[in-house]
Order: sequence, then C-alpha cells, then structure tokens
Amino acid sequence: MTQAPVDNELLPWLEPNWARLQQALAIDRLPHALLIVGARGLGKRRLADLFARALLCRTPGPAALPCGTCTDCRLNAAGSHPDWRRVTPDPESKSGEIAIDAIRELTDRSALTPVRGTRKLVLIDPADRMNAAAANALLKTLEEPAGNTLLLLIAEQPGRLPATIRSRCQLLKLAVPPQDQALAWLTPRLGAAAPVRLRLAYGAPLRALDAFDQATLDNRETLVRGFIGIGRGELDPVAAAAAWNALGARLSLDCLASSLCDLLRLAVSPAPPRLADPGLAAPLRGLADRIDPGAAHRLLRRVFEARGLVESSLNPLMQMESLLIEWARIGQR
Ligand SMILES: [Zn+2]
Repeated sequence: MTQAPVDNELLPWLEPNWARLQQALAIDRLPHALLIVGARGLGKRRLADLFARALLCRTPGPAALPCGTCTDCRLNAAGSHPDWRRVTPDPESKSGEIAIDAIRELTDRSALTPVRGTRKLVLIDPADRMNAAAANALLKTLEEPAGNTLLLLIAEQPGRLPATIRSRCQLLKLAVPPQDQALAWLTPRLGAAAPVRLRLAYGAPLRALDAFDQATLDNRETLVRGFIGIGRGELDPVAAAAAWNALGARLSLDCLASSLCDLLRLAVSPAPPRLADPGLAAPLRGLADRIDPGAAHRLLRRVFEARGLVESSLNPLMQMESLLIEWARIGQR
C-alpha cells in the first residue's frame, strides 16, 4: 500500500483538493506541513505524490501537473530525486511503526536543504503509524520549520496523532466522492462489478478497484449467509467463529459490520436506498422485523471497536466467538 504510483492522472474527485493546493501555491501560502487525511482508497498518497512531483517539475503542464519528461520528473519516475524523501515504516519491523531513527534523520538540517531546486519535500507515510518517540522528534521539526521544506503527512486515522502535531499542520481532508462521479471513473475499469465493489469499499474508488478480487467477494457472500444463518438459529455461532476467523478477522469484522448496518436500515425503512448486500435483502428483512434495534446498535459499536484494534487483538478467535454469540442472542430472541 505504501508503494508510490507514478502515473500523472489527477483523479477527478481530487480536483477540488488540487485546486486548493495550487491556489495556496500561487499566493505563496503553502504551509510547512500538510496533513492529508481521509478514508482508505480515496487517493491520499496519490495526491501527495502528484503534488510533490509537480512542485519539483521544471516545466509543469496543464493544471500544473508534472510534465513527466524534464530531468526532475525523470529522477522522480526512477525514485531517485534527491529532494523527494519518503519516510515509511521499516519493512523489517514487526510493529509496522515509524521509529524515531527515521524521523531523527529529518531533524538534521542538511537533510532539509534542497539539492537540485528550491524546495525539499518529505512524505511521512502513514504518519499515524509513528510511535510516540518518533512523533516527539517530528514535533521539533514542526516547531522550527525550515523555510524551503514541505512535510506531507498522510493519515487514515489522524486521531492517533498527538494534538500538538495536528495543530501544526494544515489539514487537507479528502471526501468520499459522489456515487455518480465514482462510478463514472470505476465502470470502465471494473464493468458491471463496479457498483457492488464501490458499495463494499464504502464509496472509496481506489479501494473498490484494488481490494475485492473474486475470492474475497465469494468469501463475503459466505460470511453474510453465515450471519443470516446464525441469526435464524440454523448455525452454531462458536463453530461459525472458527470458520470466519479462518477467512480473516479484518474481512469478517467488516462483513459483520455491514450486515448489521443493513439490518438496522431494514429495521427502520421498508426499502432503504443503500444496502451493502441488496441481493440478500429478503432474508435480512425477516431478521430485521424481530430484532431489538438498540441491542443491534450496541453490537455494531463493539464490532467497530474490534475493527479499530484488529492489528493488536491478542485473541481474534475468542473475540469473534463473543461477537457472534451476542449476534445469535439478538437474532433469536
Ligand atoms: Zn517535469
């Protein structure tokens, strides 16, 4: 996920963000640090990468996009531009965190002096994976910014960053695009599968494009049918938990959340405009008619909590059992 894309397409839903950046540049109001936030699959990394390459390009083209042919663009394409640094978690590290050493190198002034042009660009990706010591070290750089350096911080969960860091960055928030716009971009790439995949990606087009291969879609269907089976008392939740866990805790929790959301939508509306699994609306509606919505809401909160902590869960199987037993209790009351 941290691999830098090299194409120059400005994704259509990022045009307003791009315009804002260009405007700030035109009036010489670029901040020292930009915090780009938004859900997975909206293009945070692509925007940061495109903007950095555009700033380094000697002969930018229309819409101020990088030309792709000048020396600086070619150095960028080769990943060897001396003024474009990427700080990412050490792939060897088990924690997946950005450690203090990587940030300390930045606090060294010479690391922030441009080599080729007038500006140095540093990407911290994902910034919300810096450990506490690394964040502290970064704070020093943010407190005494070098005039010719732009720090680009990327975060899916900016709440994980210390408030002291957030307050020293200008925030650029990427929004989920309107469905029509997302589908216009996705349909030529995914064909008839575009709407369902966009729905499963919570409206994030790049996630819809990358995250759901056919095997995943098949597993999802198994999980939703399992959810219905447990609710109807036809499936044992403890046995199901083992099967779900084998399909992956992340996918299972996402699926449990989206099924509960569908259920709650169906509990309040006979024909909700949006469902994650419209093909299974009939059996879900049968369950929706008899559940206690308050209990389903409480379970949904627990699922979201579990999803947020999935990387650090010590016993994902036990957690899954607990959630599915609770769902069985709600469904079969
Ligand atoms: Zn260029």
